[in-house]
Amino acid sequence: MSKSRKWLALMVAFALALSAFALVGCGAAEEEPVDEPGTEEPGEPAAEVTTIEAGKLLAGSDTEFPPFEFIEGDEVKGFDVDLLSAIGEKMGLEVVFMTEIFDTLIPTLKAGGKFDVIASGMTIKPERQLEIDFSDPYYDSNQSLVMAKGSAYAGPEDLTGKRIGVQSGTTGEAWAKENIEDATLVPFNSATDAFAALQAGNVDAVVNDLPVSAELLKEDDRGMEIVAQIPTGEQYGFGVSKDNPELLAAINEALAELKADGTYNEIYQKWFGVAPE
Ligand code: GLN
Repeated sequence: MSKSRKWLALMVAFALALSAFALVGCGAAEEEPVDEPGTEEPGEPAAEVTTIEAGKLLAGSDTEFPPFEFIEGDEVKGFDVDLLSAIGEKMGLEVVFMTEIFDTLIPTLKAGGKFDVIASGMTIKPERQLEIDFSDPYYDSNQSLVMAKGSAYAGPEDLTGKRIGVQSGTTGEAWAKENIEDATLVPFNSATDAFAALQAGNVDAVVNDLPVSAELLKEDDRGMEIVAQIPTGEQYGFGVSKDNPELLAAINEALAELKADGTYNEIYQKWFGVAPE
């Protein structure tokens, strides 16, 4: 090999070694721990969470849905309220509930600027998941059919041609649409309005989430009863904008901690009188 050839070979070898070194360097940089949302150890601060009002977690909710959310005096109370407040506490945020009509919750959350999270006994549904994200499930629910006491009911066929009260935009409304033939669905803004209409005889039946029907009818003097439990196998989740994945991760992390440390069980026991299954 000539002297200049040797020199070239050396240069090439050096360049190769350099680039290999650079590659290794890159690899090492990529392996640096990244602050992925939701992967922190308990107690570590979560990834930076942005909310509409600093220090607050604003929750949109149909607050006529006991025992999940209801107004007593000038206070909002219920299972969702206690659970989300405990989540907020873990995140260092003060939870503030804002009353909204159920059917407007998803479009308002998507539009942004009014509330950060939906806490409203909202069922996790694939159609809704196209629009917003949901937290991990926090409550298992089913539907119920409520009629005047003493009504005969053997199955959805008994409701053909009847007037069925439903809450607009709910899974109860969807069930009635899919399962009752030729009925007139009468939409209401809230479950309590639907039950008031049934009590007044303006509708023949109401389809509504089972735990809420049970709560609303627990005072036995309203002349209505649950004539059927409808096993839809629903799960409630908190709704978060798809633009705020950090908030979703922080809520899930706090929820998991509350389940692990017994707080979730305590809140469940307080509102439902039994331990979660
Ligand atoms: N769980 C039902 C739904 O998501 C009803 C919720 C509600 O009325 N607050 O459609």
